[in-house]
Amino acid sequence: MIRINDILDQIHTYMPDADTSLVEKAYVYSAKVHAGQMRLSGEPYLSHPLAVAYILAQQKLDLSSITAGLLHDAVEDTLSTIEEIEEMFGPDVARIVDGVTKISQIRFQSKIEKQAENIRKMILAMSKDIRVLLVKLADRLHNMRTLQYQKERKRVKIARETLDIYAPLASRLGIDWIKRELEDLAFRYLYPEEYEELKQEVEARLGERKAYVEEVKEIISKKMAEYGLSCRVLGRPKHLYSIFRKMRRRNVSLDEIYDLIAFRIILKTVTECYEALGIVHSLWKPVPGRFKDYISLPKANMYQSLHTTVIGPYGERMEIQIRTEEMDKVATEGIAAHWLYKEGKVLKKDQQRQFEWLKRLMEWQKELEDPREFLESVRMDLFPDEVYVLTPNGEIKEFPMGATPIDFAYSIHTEVGHHCAGAKVNGKMVPLKYQLQNGDVVEIITSKHHKPSRDWLKIARTSRARARIRQWIKTEEREKSLALGKDLCNREFKKHRLDFAEFLKEDAEEVAKSLSFKTVDDMLIAAGYGKISPSQIVGKYVKLKHVEDVEELLEQDSAGASKQKKPQSEGIQIQGHDDIMIHLAKCCTPVPGDEVIGYITRGRGVTIHREDCPNVSSLEPDRKIEVTWTTDDDVNYPVMLNVVTADEKGMLAAVSNAISAAEANILEAKVYTTPDHSAHFTFLAEVRDSGHLKKVISGIKKVNGVMRVDRQASV
Ligand code: MN
Repeated sequence: MIRINDILDQIHTYMPDADTSLVEKAYVYSAKVHAGQMRLSGEPYLSHPLAVAYILAQQKLDLSSITAGLLHDAVEDTLSTIEEIEEMFGPDVARIVDGVTKISQIRFQSKIEKQAENIRKMILAMSKDIRVLLVKLADRLHNMRTLQYQKERKRVKIARETLDIYAPLASRLGIDWIKRELEDLAFRYLYPEEYEELKQEVEARLGERKAYVEEVKEIISKKMAEYGLSCRVLGRPKHLYSIFRKMRRRNVSLDEIYDLIAFRIILKTVTECYEALGIVHSLWKPVPGRFKDYISLPKANMYQSLHTTVIGPYGERMEIQIRTEEMDKVATEGIAAHWLYKEGKVLKKDQQRQFEWLKRLMEWQKELEDPREFLESVRMDLFPDEVYVLTPNGEIKEFPMGATPIDFAYSIHTEVGHHCAGAKVNGKMVPLKYQLQNGDVVEIITSKHHKPSRDWLKIARTSRARARIRQWIKTEEREKSLALGKDLCNREFKKHRLDFAEFLKEDAEEVAKSLSFKTVDDMLIAAGYGKISPSQIVGKYVKLKHVEDVEELLEQDSAGASKQKKPQSEGIQIQGHDDIMIHLAKCCTPVPGDEVIGYITRGRGVTIHREDCPNVSSLEPDRKIEVTWTTDDDVNYPVMLNVVTADEKGMLAAVSNAISAAEANILEAKVYTTPDHSAHFTFLAEVRDSGHLKKVISGIKKVNGVMRVDRQASV
């Protein structure tokens, strides 16, 4: 078991003057909160955070990462909170712990292999700070090292996840040794028989080849020395999983895999590397097509090296890698090592905080010439524009940043979208305009009666959702207009004592065509929209079918029209149009005498607004029409009045009396008091016209204690 002193000693090997008090404090804290918890191995739980912190110290990481390593399970598995950690260990450590906790809370339940790429992208997106990922990888590595204590089913699940998600992530960060160890551990638990068999065979062969490896190393060292190059030569067996993968991919046996050992020549400068390559190629014949220059074209994870395969001293293939010490460090320890190497032993404070890894990765990409590699990396790096969330079943879905539960609902099914009534994120209800965050588990609540609204267009981000909402609204409007158009026409026909039902059956199509509509529905919808009037339809019908009755009908028409008091029109005349459905706008409650304007709505006739209504400016100009009041003494109109008075007893009664005294009806009254000792009343009252309204207002103003009276512009 790792002890805290092992960690502190390790830190002092690369940061001799480091103040490790924060790390020690984290150790004490972690011991306290994990007290009494046990690992499945029977060891105290604390052994796990200690091991994780040690792995991080082995990678020569900064103190915040190591501190976070000690605390990484505290929020997830104990009563401690992220706020407490921030208070005790600062925002830097807290951010890392929070990031690791969030990744741990993602539940991958199904189809990991299919979704692996998305999961990796999501984890990368969640690890805004590269150190979050480094701690997570150390955590996974120790869990894999102690996997034998898990139950069989869990072992397989964790190993699968490691192979599909975490080993590739380690590879992307260029941490070769973690990638190799994770792969071999996963291999061991996923394919136990193949693993054991291959392990024994490879070990046997390597035993046989010990002398061979030494011989090759000797030849290389000597030859380099002849040319005045000092170097280190390593002969390293390839890790088991890479051999296994190669056998599977090529469908060959171990006997046919020649390069079980990769030789590596490590030199001082880049020039020496190319010199050494020439020497190797003069020594042994290179295999065509196997040379790769990752020095001039580094991999996306910063890996640099020359690779070549040659026919060795006994006619066998040998893979040789040639690189500098710095490149070797980056290749084995990853990008973080590159930072340490470049910036000296300790990262500066602001660099620690920023680690603008992704940004720089993008810059490196520009220098790459292989477009496939470029695309591969760009795909991963464009994620600031994307957000990854999960269904309750653990399926990952990708959305543009800023997407909402509406987008999520429509991505499941159009009907789920149409009936989306609410959403739960991570088990809690959220408003529909909530912006989805990486790793959220989203559940949509549907209700049969729920329908899309125009407002949804403002919060939906995906084109799919927006298209579906627009489609729905269009259909809905058509349906409403159709019903309204039918109703209006039916009345018009009745007025002329004509049978509307029969018209629909017999002649409607012909009338529609002659009015230039494709279908009868289109004509009725146009009537509902107010684009044509029902009397135009009747007129056309009469002309086409009942020529001999025209006069009689037209007589009836004018007689009927004069008899009717136009209850529909609410005292409004619209130039050139009869019988259009009219509503007084609720926002500004116009009364006769007000300057007004009409607005042709989609499917609900014409709405009358006051010209000074604040909503008028946002209306589509070409749907506005001129309207005038017709005098009609019997009708009263509602208006909303705001009255501010001193906060004294009896004000409500006094104001109400004033309104009644002006012969206006009160429909509704509300009162609010405010801390500034005034009382605010709103009255919904009925008046005949603007003159009457003026009288009412001046009546209220005369009441003692009234400070202000306004006609409300918008409710
Ligand atoms: Mn852990």
